Amino acid sequence: MTDAQVLVVGGGPAGASTAWHLARAGVDVVILDRARFPRDKPCAEYLSPEASRILAAMGALSRCEGAGAATLAGMSVRAPNGACIRGDFAAAHGFRGFRDRGLALRRHLLDAIVLDSARAAGARVEEGVRVTDLAYDARGAVCGVHAVNADGRSRVLRAPLVVGADGLRSVVLRRLGLARHAWAPRRIALVAHYEGVEGAGAYGEMHVEHDGYLGIARVDGGLANVALVVPRAHARRAAGDPAGFMDRWIAARAHLAPRFARAARVSSVRATGPFAQHARRAWAPGAALVGDAAAFYDPFTGEGIYAARRGGELGAPALCDALAARTPRAAHAALAAYDRARRRAFAGKWKVERVIALAVAFPALMNHAARTLSRRKDMADLLVGVAGDFVPPREVLSWRYLARLVLPLP
Ligand SMILES: Cc1cc2nc3c(=O)[nH]c(=O)nc-3n(C[C@H](O)[C@H](O)[C@H](O)COP(=O)(O)OP(=O)(O)OC[C@H]3O[C@@H](n4cnc5c(N)ncnc54)[C@H](O)[C@@H]3O)c2cc1C
Repeated sequence: MTDAQVLVVGGGPAGASTAWHLARAGVDVVILDRARFPRDKPCAEYLSPEASRILAAMGALSRCEGAGAATLAGMSVRAPNGACIRGDFAAAHGFRGFRDRGLALRRHLLDAIVLDSARAAGARVEEGVRVTDLAYDARGAVCGVHAVNADGRSRVLRAPLVVGADGLRSVVLRRLGLARHAWAPRRIALVAHYEGVEGAGAYGEMHVEHDGYLGIARVDGGLANVALVVPRAHARRAAGDPAGFMDRWIAARAHLAPRFARAARVSSVRATGPFAQHARRAWAPGAALVGDAAAFYDPFTGEGIYAARRGGELGAPALCDALAARTPRAAHAALAAYDRARRRAFAGKWKVERVIALAVAFPALMNHAARTLSRRKDMADLLVGVAGDFVPPREVLSWRYLARLVLPLP
């Protein structure tokens, strides 16, 4: 006997989006999440203009706006040498996003709204249920999960398909043995909300320094999200006293310290990391991976929430095909098609993320690129549009663009 047609492990953006699409297609789907919503998640909380398209499709955009989501006109980046780049989402390059603005909403509000949408579409949601392992059938295909309820009771839930949407440190990814070990920046992040950060306005800000970067974005309630990302080498000092570490890092920057002089931290400082994770492929017999469980690289370009939702949008039709398949072979082919669709959808953005990570890791490169982009608003707009998920990555991966970026300015 099965408990559902699909079990989705994790009710964050990836799991809720996948379940929403499945429920709308008439699939009996259960979301299992170890947390109880509203739950928090350390994040810079910026949503790209294209993320609004998926929120609108799920009927969640007006609720996010009603919850007071701040709007962002674009992004600004300050390089270690002080050169500043500013790019707008609404620009003259001819590409338009679903909206001309990004949004920023605290995750405990955003994720609860999106999970509610999945519930309203017909998904069943079980909170306070921690998945500990996968269950396998006689052929070695995944056929369910082992879970522990909040009261400590263990149980096995069965379904023909299991979706791992359980984020960084995904238990589903690990149990499937699909984690790929590749080079990635090993960083940790400290995140907090502040009141009264001077000048936190219409643009999301990134301040890149030799020893990390700081993001500032206005969110709902007149607050600012402040996210500090530093190399993992700082982890021990940061973990011992995250608030003190963050205060000292900001106070040591002459361009940032005055802006925080009258600011008050209104949340605890939450630490997370390291965050790079990549699956060799996003499926196995009886299972699929979505969101951070399938891939996450670095928060600099801030599109994980969009990618998680888009993953659900891409995955649901393939999961429906796999459920309808008459043979295991046909079901595997459907899941493999999902993996290919993901690669097609995200490959360009993955390359851009890696180029940016390289520039962040080598300040001389960042300084040079920032000098160029600060004088070439058209190029900055294109890059910000790619980060906003509505300009095709090929626009900034072309030889023409890259040559202009690295060659000396006339
Ligand atoms: C410092 C930082 C800043 C970021 N800033 C941004 C940004 O500004 N914009 C942006 O778009 N993205 C940002 N991201 C990325 C973004 O947070 C993630 O990509 C996004 O949350 C992925 O969604 P998800 O649903 O895959 O995972 P999650 O949001 O992590 O959700 C996973 C869910 O699974 C549940 N879960 C985990 N394990 C289990 C288990 N064993 N059993 C049951 N449930 C389980 C968790 O409780 C959670 O609810 C940032 C990331 C970091 C680290």
